[in-house]
Amino acid sequence: MSSVNTAIQLITREQAAATAGGAAANTCSPALARGPWDFDLAEALAGTPAYGPGASAADVAPASTPRQGQLPEEYKLASDAELDARIRAAKAALGDRAVVLGHFYQRDEVIQYADFVGDSFQLANAALTRPDAEAIIFCGVHFMAETADILSRPDQAVILPNLAAGCSMADMADIDSVTECWEQLAEVFGTEPDADGRVPVIPVTYMNSSAALKGFCGEHGGIVCTSSNAATVLEWAFERGQRVLFFPDQHLGRNTAKAMGVPLDRMPMWNPRKDFGGNDEQTLRDSRVILWHGFCSVHKRFNVGQIEKARAQFPGVNVIVHPECPMEVVDAADSAGSTDFIKKAIAAATEPTTFAIGTEINMVNRLAAEYPQHTIFCLDPVICPCSTMYRIHPGYLAWVLEALVRGEVVNRITVDDGVAAPAKVALERMLAARP
Ligand code: SF4
Repeated sequence: MSSVNTAIQLITREQAAATAGGAAANTCSPALARGPWDFDLAEALAGTPAYGPGASAADVAPASTPRQGQLPEEYKLASDAELDARIRAAKAALGDRAVVLGHFYQRDEVIQYADFVGDSFQLANAALTRPDAEAIIFCGVHFMAETADILSRPDQAVILPNLAAGCSMADMADIDSVTECWEQLAEVFGTEPDADGRVPVIPVTYMNSSAALKGFCGEHGGIVCTSSNAATVLEWAFERGQRVLFFPDQHLGRNTAKAMGVPLDRMPMWNPRKDFGGNDEQTLRDSRVILWHGFCSVHKRFNVGQIEKARAQFPGVNVIVHPECPMEVVDAADSAGSTDFIKKAIAAATEPTTFAIGTEINMVNRLAAEYPQHTIFCLDPVICPCSTMYRIHPGYLAWVLEALVRGEVVNRITVDDGVAAPAKVALERMLAARP
């Protein structure tokens, strides 16, 4: 199976239909075929940040979104073969002094150089196994590099090859809006614990959030969760609090709490643009989980119609989706779980099986290549990768690696100690939480 990038190039050049699981394939944006530096430049000229083409293209990037400066021309003009030779030479010259991490959703053209491939938390932990590394090159998105910086030694430099690789979901909850929400909730609930010693609200942030929000949780008795341990973390929070404020992903919060038996009418949504999130006080008082109005535009693309079509086309198909998908999609699937869950479910299948997967296309295609005995395809027939992951291209990787060989650190991501310390507390609470 060709890479996502190759498929997009083909579709764009020839306007020909590629195939995914027997369905006609298309791409959500022909602009994906261009070098990401075009978008760095366009954003600089326009003076406004954007997420670029792909699933998050329509999301509004906040003004504080980091911008990538212009990539030197030599990296834009280099052929694939030249970049390959330069990346391999730079990696060889650096040896154990640098470790390259690749997220599951990263394009194949970059993943081939990764020393570790995994989800954001697996990768941050993988970096800890390489204490000799002076540089950790994170081929993922901004919040992942921040987490790696929080968990790594101060003398290790965490590098994000393209600073424009943010995360539109993480950007949907910012520290000012969450602080304002917290103050409004205190007006409604006060701050005193109940007779059982449970405080009015425990803040829970998904790993896919800024370091500032992880720090907020650390400072306010809260905790971080991943899509693998969200139920365990919610149990931890319910033991200590009467209710949870969950940000930024409404879908992970709703899907997890619903599976734990929390009724939907006790999960109001908090819209940060409205007073009290758009809720009346009684609704907030009755709540068990207050859901932030955030979502992932990659996983929002999946719908029940796609599942029905897959079931009609492939009777007996096993549909597995990520819990960042909307609730009705999770309900219609055979199972839902993190990227690690999806990987393990496929690895555990002993008989040839047809799997329809609801998560990012780069990971789905890689699983299809890894397990040729199974038929594995993405539920969404339109090739639409995560916009921000796609901002990293081998040209940026070559640039940061060759700079390191010259003794220069470019695109370093650092989290201030005042934020990193409480954020680490919230991460450590997560690690200590047990089912
Ligand atoms: S897939 Fe969604 S949550 Fe993950 S980095 Fe992309 S936008 Fe963010």
